[in-house]
Amino acid sequence: MATMTDNHRYLIQFMLKNGVTTVDNAQEYCKFVSKGEIEDINMLERLVAEINGTISKQSFKLKFFVCEVTNQKVLVWLNTKNDDISKLQIKFSPVELEYFHAILQELIHNEEHRLTTIVCINITSTLTSHLTRENGQKLLNIFLKNGYFVVKGAYIYLGPRLILEFTIYLKTHCPESVCTLCSELVFCGNICHSCRQTAHSHCLTKYLEMESKCPSCQATLERIMEVDEVDDSRTTQNCREDVNEEVPMQKQKRRQPVPTRNITSDDSSSEEDPNEPGPSTRGPSTRRRRR
Ligand SMILES: [Zn+2]
Ligand SMILES: [Zn+2]
Repeated sequence: MATMTDNHRYLIQFMLKNGVTTVDNAQEYCKFVSKGEIEDINMLERLVAEINGTISKQSFKLKFFVCEVTNQKVLVWLNTKNDDISKLQIKFSPVELEYFHAILQELIHNEEHRLTTIVCINITSTLTSHLTRENGQKLLNIFLKNGYFVVKGAYIYLGPRLILEFTIYLKTHCPESVCTLCSELVFCGNICHSCRQTAHSHCLTKYLEMESKCPSCQATLERIMEVDEVDDSRTTQNCREDVNEEVPMQKQKRRQPVPTRNITSDDSSSEEDPNEPGPSTRGPSTRRRRR
């Protein structure tokens, strides 16, 4: 690429500091530091492409991505060097890495691919290294801030940066967790009642604008919403739990499959998740995957 300008440097510094940010935030930041020069998404995309052209040899990359948990479009700073936990060695100490790996393992093997914050903090007591619950909580917040995990409601999920940096690792360990529409990893998408295939909700939203049949089994899709048991208003970046509260570690309880039924818009109006697709995309059928 050509020469690096201040605008390139500002965005690199911003992403090094944040790891992951919403595209809206990145755009706002760039507009501010460039004094209005970078004013829209096309300009931001061009800036990102130019940065990638420069830093690719250093095994770093910026990538746009849709977070499957929040459905927000985010920009992620990626280490592309190798697909292994060892690449985090520069960033984290051995004890921190052990904790990170233990949470990752629990999230992979948990049927719903999510854990409550308190379960994540309880994992500190299972480590071979010594890590207090207080430090476990602080560390968990750092993992969240860096985009490795993401919190929604009372639960911690695999975050955009983890899914992008450990794609090969995750595809090896969770070969069934692939979106039937885009073939990328999916951990909390929508599942077809007929064939049990999963799709990202953002992929499905686009697909349902034109089709009403399951892309895998051609069953007619009928949307079924489940009432969420958690208070999803707690969508802050950081998680706070009473760290003194000891709760035995357990797998998320399996939800019973919901029988296929028709629901009217009135049935679901009070249960609508603000992150779910709007009315124009409702109709065909799927339910939010809760594993
Ligand atoms: Zn998809
Ligand atoms: Zn199907």
